[in-house]
Amino acid sequence: MVLKEISHWIRDLGVRLPEPFRCGCGLTHRVPIRSLLFGRGVIDEVQRTIEGLGVRVLVVADPTTKRIAGESVIEALSANGARVEESIVSEPTVDESYRLSEALVGRDLAVAVGGGSVIDVCKLASKIADIPYVAVPTTLSHDGVVSPTASLIGTDSVKRSILCNPPVGVLFDSDILENQPRRMISAGCADILAKATSLKDWELGRDAVNERYCELTARVVKTSLDSLVDSLRMGNFDIAVLCRSILLSGVAMALMGSSRPCSGSEHLIAHRLEASKQKNALHGELVGLGTIMMSKYHEVENEGWWEDAKLSHESILSILRGLKVPTSREELGISTESIVNALMTARDLRPDRFTILHKRPLNLRDAESLVRETVG
Ligand SMILES: [Zn+2]
Ligand SMILES: [Zn+2]
Repeated sequence: MVLKEISHWIRDLGVRLPEPFRCGCGLTHRVPIRSLLFGRGVIDEVQRTIEGLGVRVLVVADPTTKRIAGESVIEALSANGARVEESIVSEPTVDESYRLSEALVGRDLAVAVGGGSVIDVCKLASKIADIPYVAVPTTLSHDGVVSPTASLIGTDSVKRSILCNPPVGVLFDSDILENQPRRMISAGCADILAKATSLKDWELGRDAVNERYCELTARVVKTSLDSLVDSLRMGNFDIAVLCRSILLSGVAMALMGSSRPCSGSEHLIAHRLEASKQKNALHGELVGLGTIMMSKYHEVENEGWWEDAKLSHESILSILRGLKVPTSREELGISTESIVNALMTARDLRPDRFTILHKRPLNLRDAESLVRETVG
């Protein structure tokens, strides 16, 4: 087993863990992560992430993730003297989080083993029950593993982002994560490439409407983006790179207590498309499509766009093609009409979150030509 304590991935950038610290941006940031492990077979070391947090543990999984990693986690915890029970979650809903929060009563902490849905249900349940949780991701198809926000379906059937807390510990087991479906890894990479546009949208908010902006957080996000782009361009990608980028992206959101640094116009477009029946596409794939269009739009309309050629629209497009994520609306089965509509109405989803779509709203003709030029 190769085991690595990886807190330095964050500390080296100037972020303190887990105690609060004052920042030049005027905020007191707090990222409550106490333990971060990466390596082969690292789930056998789960005990290390819960030291000092108590022994009454609820392991949360779904039937698949229980088989992939949940059983090993339960075994490892039990062997080390923890009193472990398990709870299986079925759907990413607010109701499910309330049900789970009742199962958490009398427990010291939760360990969420799974992809986005399990971790998101556990995030909100832990917040309601006011106990900490550890995340053990089995897939990395988006950057929500470490973030403080949960994306859950409410009683009105609408998916919303709910502010909760980041995990107190994360275990990235490379044996498990290397074996996730390729499509998941590619979607996760696309969600990180989206930082090229989300960071520029945040800068526009700072410059146009005096929005709070944190240089430290922006540096964390840029490092997340750069390290992934560099490794994909050089053809030496390995799963550690994606783990690090996803971790940094989650930490950035924890620093700001908001998804703002990592979610800009490209995410607004993806959310519009998600709301309109794109059930089969992964979040990262829709975000990738949004990033293709918005990197082009920024490049033309925003004089502050990246000068570095590796972050040009063309370069982003070519990286996404290399990842084999869908890069045209046709591959995703989206009509021109829906995508044009998403471009024109995405900004209404978040009038408060200034982006290039707020600065330069697209009219019908311009939206149609942007779609034609970029995603067909
Ligand atoms: Zn995302
Ligand atoms: Zn700051």
